[in-house]
Amino acid sequence: MPDRSPVFVRSNPRVLDHDPGLGHPESSRRVRVILDALEPDGGGRWIVDRHAPLPPDDDVIGVLKWIHEADYIERLRAASEEGHGWLDSHDCRLSRGTFDAALAAAGLAMNAALDLVNRKIERAFVVIRPPSHHAERAAAKGYCFFNSVAVAAEIVAGSLGGTVLIADFDAHHGNGTQQCFYDRPDVGYVSVHGFPGFPGTGTADETGAGLGEGATRNIPLLAGAGDAVYCAAFEKALDEVASRLRPAAIIVSAGFDAHAADPLGGMRVTESGFRRMSAAVAATAQRWSGGRVLSFLEGGFDLQALANCARIHVEELASGDVDKADA
Ligand SMILES: [Zn+2]
Repeated sequence: MPDRSPVFVRSNPRVLDHDPGLGHPESSRRVRVILDALEPDGGGRWIVDRHAPLPPDDDVIGVLKWIHEADYIERLRAASEEGHGWLDSHDCRLSRGTFDAALAAAGLAMNAALDLVNRKIERAFVVIRPPSHHAERAAAKGYCFFNSVAVAAEIVAGSLGGTVLIADFDAHHGNGTQQCFYDRPDVGYVSVHGFPGFPGTGTADETGAGLGEGATRNIPLLAGAGDAVYCAAFEKALDEVASRLRPAAIIVSAGFDAHAADPLGGMRVTESGFRRMSAAVAATAQRWSGGRVLSFLEGGFDLQALANCARIHVEELASGDVDKADA
């Protein structure tokens, strides 16, 4: 195997500051168990940085305005200062640290994207919360406040040239991410997810609009899908859309709530399934994208399954098996 740069695993303590309340499944413990599962590092194959640097807040807000309406950003800031209640939907509960944590998550995404386009890194797994993919231009939704994945995609698409493909294997459809890029030919979106169910979008006929027609691919699956169905659907869609777009980089919405033990996802995927999907991402990146992958934590609410699968995900990104790309 050729020498490769490590996978950079990054987080920052500020993402722990969002506290949606006792018993809420989207807790800061999710980040802690993942980082614990990835340390000590993988013999040089990956490097864990729990205190990855953040850009200045004003710079992050400037970039967030590409994705979100300015009024929404200020609405979240004001609601967070109140320090209680919820924003836009009952599942988006707030604490005083919510705005700071969401800003830090977007800042980690921004830095990872800039480091990718500046060729400082090739692959990263960015362990952020609140998650991203349900956050819309002007609304919080499904535990998500700022769409950090969209921030990274926008930066990479604007700087690297060519196209970017967002691959989303979270058990829920990324309505917010799809909304951001639905009419864009330069940012593709592939999602496998449960349907019907939250958030209620992501039917197979949602394929993009205008110049973006064909760059969005949704594979809705009934609840209870296991490795054979869920992973095969993801692999096929990823391969087909990547072959069409030939992306310069792949960005992953890495949600692990399709795991059989997850209390919310309703699917039956196992650790082997997450290994398979992660290997497919690495192989697709190897084939089309010079190995470039930025992966971001989305859902995953059973702590043990989350820790296991996040480690498996990084192991597969680190191996980036070239042979699988030619299989
Ligand atoms: Zn989810």
